[in-house]
Amino acid sequence: MYPSTYTNRSLNCLNVWKVTIILVIFGSPVFAATTDRVVVRESVSPVRRDELMMRLRAITGWSDLAFDDDGALHLSNTSPTAGSASARDLLSRATSGDRVILFEDASSRKDVVFCRVVLGKFLRESPADPEVYVVLIDFDDFRKVIGDKQARAAFDVGWAVLHEIDHVVHDSQDPEHDTSPGDCEAHINNMRRELGLPVRNSYFYNFLPIKKEGVLVSRFVRLGFEQINSTSTKTKRYWLIWDAAIVGGLNPECAEASDRITSPVRSSLYLASRAF
Ligand SMILES: [Zn+2]
Repeated sequence: MYPSTYTNRSLNCLNVWKVTIILVIFGSPVFAATTDRVVVRESVSPVRRDELMMRLRAITGWSDLAFDDDGALHLSNTSPTAGSASARDLLSRATSGDRVILFEDASSRKDVVFCRVVLGKFLRESPADPEVYVVLIDFDDFRKVIGDKQARAAFDVGWAVLHEIDHVVHDSQDPEHDTSPGDCEAHINNMRRELGLPVRNSYFYNFLPIKKEGVLVSRFVRLGFEQINSTSTKTKRYWLIWDAAIVGGLNPECAEASDRITSPVRSSLYLASRAF
């Protein structure tokens, strides 16, 4: 990993790196014919497309949010009393902004830990092309997480996609070294509060403290969430746990490859592929 190279970079200031991105967006009728800004690609199966749609419906409260036959995300005109108003605002900005966001299935890829966003490019570039960001989603990783139900409700593919969209829409940052959630997760945590869910208390996960003869032997990691009890003012802690050897992030070669792809666009892993 090269954490120091990330500091203070933004999506805007790194466009010069566009040509180095290996991900290529082939010509698509979606872009040629419409101004759709958030699109799920054909690589995402109908089942997984529905899974993502249902999660975004649950978070936003928009029961009629949907992808059309071309994969374009359509929001609702309603103002539901349930759901996160902040999440609705983020998606509204994404679907009306200057940048295009694509969802791509990256399930079981070693270099994708849950979710991350990379900069794409058109096969035949034109000066009129909008900037394109590709959200790589490893749907399988989310099925390998166990833990408290309150934490699992605050951590699924819907939340992960909103995290990556926030990077694109707001140029928000993840922390490099400290134990805070970071700017991006602060926005996502606000959405969780609006739904009465616990908030993520750190951007990074930790290894489970299992030791044998003084040596850390665990390959299982945990991520903490917390919620203040409004009546007792006590803080309750909830945990997610997974096997990092299966989900990814432990192999240094994968981590390096991941960096080479992501650092030029200041994209990020939904969970960084490092632990401390
Ligand atoms: Zn991030």
